[in-house]
Amino acid sequence: MDLPELHCIVIGAGIGGLAAGALLARQGVQVVVLEAQSYPGGCAATFSSGGYRFDAGATVGCGFHPGGPLDKLGRELGIDWPVRREPLAWQYRHRDLRLDLASSRENIIARFPRSQAFWDEQSRLARILWSFSAGALPWPISGGRDLLGIAGKALASLPDSVRLLPFAGRTALEWLRHHRLHDDPDFVRFIDAQLLISAQTTSRHANALNAAIALDLPVAGTWRVDGGIGAVARRLAESIERDGGAVLYGKKVTRLDSIRREVLGVETSDGDALAADAIIANLTPESFALLDDFRPADEPDAPPASGWSAFMLYLGVDASFFDRAGADHLQIVAPTGELGECRSLFVSASPVGDAGRAPDGQRAVTVSTHTKPERWFKALQQGRAAYEALKQEYTDRTLALLREQLPEFDGAIRSVTAATPHSWEQWTGRHRGLVGGYAQTSLFGVRGPATKYKNLFLTGDSIFPGQSLPGVVTGARRTVELVLRRAKKLRW
Ligand SMILES: Cc1cc2nc3c(=O)[nH]c(=O)nc-3n(C[C@H](O)[C@H](O)[C@H](O)COP(=O)(O)OP(=O)(O)OC[C@H]3O[C@@H](n4cnc5c(N)ncnc54)[C@H](O)[C@@H]3O)c2cc1C
Repeated sequence: MDLPELHCIVIGAGIGGLAAGALLARQGVQVVVLEAQSYPGGCAATFSSGGYRFDAGATVGCGFHPGGPLDKLGRELGIDWPVRREPLAWQYRHRDLRLDLASSRENIIARFPRSQAFWDEQSRLARILWSFSAGALPWPISGGRDLLGIAGKALASLPDSVRLLPFAGRTALEWLRHHRLHDDPDFVRFIDAQLLISAQTTSRHANALNAAIALDLPVAGTWRVDGGIGAVARRLAESIERDGGAVLYGKKVTRLDSIRREVLGVETSDGDALAADAIIANLTPESFALLDDFRPADEPDAPPASGWSAFMLYLGVDASFFDRAGADHLQIVAPTGELGECRSLFVSASPVGDAGRAPDGQRAVTVSTHTKPERWFKALQQGRAAYEALKQEYTDRTLALLREQLPEFDGAIRSVTAATPHSWEQWTGRHRGLVGGYAQTSLFGVRGPATKYKNLFLTGDSIFPGQSLPGVVTGARRTVELVLRRAKKLRW
């Protein structure tokens, strides 16, 4: 079949679904994206509330560096991203420690002099990994062609690629131990805080190669996105439409119609039925299970439904406060205790001069902390009062840690709105509000885009390489490659 005759439905207009849809549409495939909400972006959306434009989840633009996944995608699709490089990625605060994370590590090495060799090694590994992730990454391997693809990439970057091997089966903590850094609690906490937001787990469990690239984000560069992070999704949706596709909002897919191992089409909550040759689902495997008549639990390698959600505060804050704080993004970590659950916060203020994000003299601020969803849904079962009480408890604890590090914060706050795993479930259709993708503990046993249905594929942060804008764009390339390969093989 010629590509213009290939019809593809994408369920969900998150960055993963939109990137896959845009790449296919650019190649001439007939693409229709069905999005349940009235706006695109999912976890990386920007929404309006009370005169503010808040970033819902993601706030830090990454992967836009030359050759990075977003840069490459933009060049291919003719998108001029509305981004500007941030001079400072974020500021880390723990007790009296203040560290600016930027393209240079000088200040970090000055504070932790024994870490020089570790950072040198991390930079070398990250350089190789970024070059690997610039195209579709044939991982996890599904067939001889992928094996050849990986072998080709490895050979092309010899001898560098051989350097990756010893790290593939190591945890980040073992890597730190190798550099005798594991016994410095402040350094481990600093590393753990970064890994939790980028790899969804801490050094005890994170894979060393995942850690190497996660720790590279401030060096590779971070970007502010004018109008909020949701502008990335909007540009991708426009690209699909420019290339003859459609992005339809308010279209929640409620059912997949299938015969044996083939999906024929989808039904939506407003009573529509659409047929397609191929379907791409920008959903978590757990959310899939919620669609009538479809049980991905049939898939033998479905991971258990565990993971992180997020508790959020959306704040209106006096603009001058952040001038004094010295950074627009702050990572604040409690003196002791496991990270997450209000003991580690990521705080992001809308940039100065980004008109329309907040009333005059204020900034729209997003604060997030990792939280396990179970407690929230148990509270909901107990009734509204129990849920509201938990929400208040988390609000108070979050504000208390903010106050500890930023004593004048209270006086600068103009409005407070909280959101919970239940909110995330409502906003993104993700079962239990599981956001952030899987914990990056191993390179083996990760999920790829294929399903047991020959024309149904996954994309988004549940598939390798996982969460973040660059992560889901890299995963989307892999999904697109498999769709086209399958279309050719089966002559759809
Ligand atoms: C609090 C938080 C902070 C983060 N910070 C950053 C950051 O600073 N930088 C960064 O790069 N990444 C960050 N991330 C990660 C990043 O946002 C995500 O990895 C990425 O946006 C996920 O995209 P996705 O395509 O997998 O899916 P999603 O964003 O979940 O999109 C899925 C879409 O599918 C739609 N949908 C679901 N079910 C249906 C259905 N049945 N029918 C139709 N549509 C449906 C949803 O409405 C949604 O729009 C953060 C995430 C969170 C939660």
